[in-house]
Amino acid sequence: DREEPSHFGAGPAQMPTNVLKQAALDLLNYQNMGLGIGEISHRSKEAVALINETKENLIKLLEIPGTHDVFFLQGGGTTGFSSIATNLNQAYIARHGKVGKAGYLVTGSWSQKAYEEAKRLRIQSEVIFDARNFSQDGKFGIIPNEKEWSNKIESLKDDLSYVYLCENETVHGIEWGPELPKCLSDVEVVADLSSDILSRKIDVSRYGVIMAGAQKNIGLAGLTLYIIKKSLLSDIEKFNKEFAGKFEDNVHVPVTPIAFEFPTAVKNNSSYNTIPIFTLHVMNLVFRNLIAKGGIEQQQIENEEKAELLYRTLDSFPEFYNIPVDKSCRSKMNVVFTIKKDGLDDLFIEGAKKLKLTGLKGHRSVGGFRASIYNALSLEAVTKLADFVEDFAKKNM
Ligand code: PMP
Repeated sequence: DREEPSHFGAGPAQMPTNVLKQAALDLLNYQNMGLGIGEISHRSKEAVALINETKENLIKLLEIPGTHDVFFLQGGGTTGFSSIATNLNQAYIARHGKVGKAGYLVTGSWSQKAYEEAKRLRIQSEVIFDARNFSQDGKFGIIPNEKEWSNKIESLKDDLSYVYLCENETVHGIEWGPELPKCLSDVEVVADLSSDILSRKIDVSRYGVIMAGAQKNIGLAGLTLYIIKKSLLSDIEKFNKEFAGKFEDNVHVPVTPIAFEFPTAVKNNSSYNTIPIFTLHVMNLVFRNLIAKGGIEQQQIENEEKAELLYRTLDSFPEFYNIPVDKSCRSKMNVVFTIKKDGLDDLFIEGAKKLKLTGLKGHRSVGGFRASIYNALSLEAVTKLADFVEDFAKKNM
């Protein structure tokens, strides 16, 4: 057992204690089989039932329409950057008979990395906007209004194989609104939801692909979930049948390593190769836990309350704390802030630690502080942090 933690680390992140307790029991003896969940074949009836239940629970939680499929792949967000680029490049070729262009909306370091990976794989790609060009200090901290870049989407529309965005930039604390910009209505939107999946309601029908690594809101590292429009799967299959190998003479079309090929994963019910079944089980326990708690609707209310409390507290000391993110796109999952006065950072971390508030150091690339308040962080834990934030400012102003 353990005392309930108040760990604000960005990921791997704190998980619900009841989920971990059940997972620990099941690692030893799953459903009274006399064997742990990690010791059974991924093709056994128990494993297949688990994969199916996990999918069904996700479909229920996100109200995923029949137009979309769900699958899981080994790896994390970074493997998603690569597999998305190669799979969707091929889908476009199959549909249009020519190579398309991938458009990236760069709002922070994760969308930047996704773009760099597409380039590295020699996928034709382009930055639609780099948000640093719209901020006063040249750093990430704002999402430009779509009026500023919808022209570019409009002019490239017919060539765009997909438009990529990172729904929540974990390092910079920047989150897109729950509703996607109108100008993306007629393009395949691909979104990285690694750090905000299941934190709020979304309209799945508007996405071509949703990708999310597990180790923040939904589980342990090692497994990534994908939600994909079925028409894209048929396009990739068509590419394999009709186009593969035919473009190399004049245009380079990177192939997808077989374990990351989307239609192969779907056709084999996420078990083309060995699925990390314990990690999947933990994910399913998180899903069950969320359903029992009242689903996304209830979770979203809590998350809004937590974020509102923390931002309000920080905002009430404008001479002391700085939030380097525009109010219009402040993340409800990763609250990033700095202390204006020099020399107080270590004192803040030490003081927090004394109250058992941990994981608050900002990402090494940006410094300062980051409080990640994912689904598993209770309002009570966030209240403790907000009280400390207030106290610290009053004592050190
Ligand atoms: N996307 C986002 C939004 C992330 O926060 C991260 C970091 N976990 C990644 C992608 C990369 O994930 P991974 O380390 O699992 O490759």
